[in-house]
Amino acid sequence: METIQKLLHSNKINKRERLEIKQFLKRIQKPKKKKKKAKKIKVKKDVLNRKIEYKKYLNSAKWKAIRQDVLLRDNYRCAYCYNLDNLHIHHLSYVNFKKEKLSDLITLCKDCHKGEHLSN
Ligand SMILES: [Zn+2]
Ligand SMILES: [Zn+2]
Repeated sequence: METIQKLLHSNKINKRERLEIKQFLKRIQKPKKKKKKAKKIKVKKDVLNRKIEYKKYLNSAKWKAIRQDVLLRDNYRCAYCYNLDNLHIHHLSYVNFKKEKLSDLITLCKDCHKGEHLSN
């Protein structure tokens, strides 16, 4: 590749040859783009898998126990507006995902929770 580039910038070739080399280079660079696309699809799949995993976790007994602990700590009310209804548990951090510490979580009402995700 380097030699081709050198040739391209040398004056050993004429305009037509230079154009042909450029076109050739373009053609051999195309597969690289395809690789990038494949990566993007993989990322999408990863996001989907993570979503499924997250949903599964939210239905697990372990999460339900952690959830209860957080609700108890926050006195069964929204930490922002003290609303008692429609309480959600919000992740302040996913660093300890699946083995959350109470400090990673906070009790929020539906509206405050929504606001929290809109601002992020
Ligand atoms: Zn949340
Ligand atoms: Zn609230």
